[in-house]
Amino acid sequence: MNPLLKNFIFVILILLVVGGIFSLLYFPTSTPNEISATQLISDINNNKVKKITVSGDILNIVYTDNKTAISMKESGTGLTDLLINLGVNKDSLQKVEISEQPAQQDLWSWLTPLLVFGILPLIVFGFFFWTMIRQAKSGAVQVFDFTKAKARLFGAEGHGKEKITFKDVAGLKEAKEELVEIVDFLKFPKKYLAMGAKIPRGVLLVGAAGVGKTLLARAVAGEANVPFLSVSGSEFVEMFVGVGSARVRDLFATAKKSAPSIIFIDELDAIGRHRGAGIGGGHDEREQTLNQILVEMDGFEKETGVIILAATNRPDILDPALLRPGRFDRKIVLDPPDVHDREEILKIHSKGKPLGKDVDFKETAERTPGFTGADLANVANEAALLAARQNKTVVDQKEFLEAIEKVLLGPERKSHILSKKEKEIAAYHEAGHALVSTFMPDTEPVRKISIIARGMAAGYTLQVPSEERKMKTKTGFMSEIATLLGGYCAEKIKFGEMTTGASNDLSRASEMARKLVKEYGMSSLGPISFGEKEELVFLGKEISEQRNYSEKVAERIDEEVDVIIKGAQKQAEIVLLKHKNLLDKVGKDLIEKETIEKEEFERIIGVHKNNSKKS
Ligand code: ADP
Ligand code: ZN
Repeated sequence: MNPLLKNFIFVILILLVVGGIFSLLYFPTSTPNEISATQLISDINNNKVKKITVSGDILNIVYTDNKTAISMKESGTGLTDLLINLGVNKDSLQKVEISEQPAQQDLWSWLTPLLVFGILPLIVFGFFFWTMIRQAKSGAVQVFDFTKAKARLFGAEGHGKEKITFKDVAGLKEAKEELVEIVDFLKFPKKYLAMGAKIPRGVLLVGAAGVGKTLLARAVAGEANVPFLSVSGSEFVEMFVGVGSARVRDLFATAKKSAPSIIFIDELDAIGRHRGAGIGGGHDEREQTLNQILVEMDGFEKETGVIILAATNRPDILDPALLRPGRFDRKIVLDPPDVHDREEILKIHSKGKPLGKDVDFKETAERTPGFTGADLANVANEAALLAARQNKTVVDQKEFLEAIEKVLLGPERKSHILSKKEKEIAAYHEAGHALVSTFMPDTEPVRKISIIARGMAAGYTLQVPSEERKMKTKTGFMSEIATLLGGYCAEKIKFGEMTTGASNDLSRASEMARKLVKEYGMSSLGPISFGEKEELVFLGKEISEQRNYSEKVAERIDEEVDVIIKGAQKQAEIVLLKHKNLLDKVGKDLIEKETIEKEEFERIIGVHKNNSKKS
């Protein structure tokens, strides 16, 4: 039933009940027998009446045998006069006790309307509102306390979570060194205040997702042993205007109350992006929230002892007002971990896991360039899960290596069955990638080839760099594009036609070619950067490109991209035609084994590669 209708019926019922109660009070059910005035006089004269109580015009009569009756008199006349006029015996009358009960009737007569028309509706309305509020509160929308920031408090007491210190954060040496000062200030604020030293209020932690920004912020709180209030920028952005800023106020009030303390704002870019970038004028919710943060930060006294740490992976889109002195004027960059740090992170996350004798953190670290701390934590966990699933008592290196692939590509989809023909196509496709990569200059060695579907891909060729590189050459790019087209070309050479399996390769190759021309200056257009990337906020995020070049240049860009792609395709085809026998060998091997490891692949092609390098 419609809840409103239900409430309405409920209210009507209440009205009926209350009305009933009043009518009971007002009209007593046992109406005593009413007697006429003549009857009363004869009763008095017969000495039967003990007592008469006058209330208004009603006479309540009590007889000597304790029976009661009522009678009425004309209003305006006294009772005694009336009785005498009617010829009562005076002697008898004197024996009757007469008392007045003033205006009892009158009291009710004005009280009743007041009750019915004044107080009763109030009660009914009050009840009505009360049920409404109760319903609203128990529902999904917490109407009355949604201005509270949903800050999670990891207090000094721990709140069930174990305390995190710098010991739990591997690597990030420079970042830790910078934050030691903050820890010291939170511990001994007087020391710094006495010196008149300015302590940064806001510190911006900049780094890709998963590099340990949150972890580091919690470690600062843990080291200083102060409460840690954590909110995410996206939590401030709500449907209702004004909620975000109310939450900010609430958050800062809470932090001040528990000072010294740390406020941690994750995803600061969700609220702190450049003002005016959004649509809908300059007064949207996000801006109000941002302004409130600025107001709160400016209003801080030196002595407050609240430090604000914020995390973002897009410092470039933050509003400049946030970065002004006195606000987030300290910026700490967290780099992805290098080989040594990765080893340390793996060690930290393998603590408490029973490890086999052959576990080699160094090897695992070497095989995971580009992995963040979060990825590595994931690898350690996946390795343990894999070992447990096989009912092993320890986690071996084998599980760690398998976990790397799982984190990199998603879980194997063994259930994804390829038909015989599909399997053949997939095998030659992957063999094509692997061979082109092997025979092109400046490429990474092939680690593994597989036609077992993983994540989105039907098969994959894994190339992991032997060393980390920050820069790439044009030769390297060309080889990479050729490698991407290797699958497509192999299909064409072997089967004479192409399948949809190559579409992802093609889009990656085209994107890379476009970048070579427009961003890296690696074409005949010369060292000019074309197109400005600009962030447009429209229903979430979207990156659009501002075209800052002419129609003519656009044409030339397209031509250059065409040259690069066609060139790469030519190279891939030359390699595959030259080594057609190898393509068949690797393809057949893949169909049979589904997965080929580095060693085996090198054994198949080894001789040829050496020969071709020599020639
Ligand atoms: P971010 O906030 O930068 O996105 P987090 O701090 O949430 O990343 O990191 C996610 C997880 O990754 C952490 O909980 C931790 O387990 C792991 N991690 C990341 N960096 C490190 C590190 N340097 N040392 C140890 N563990 C790390
Ligand atoms: Zn492919």
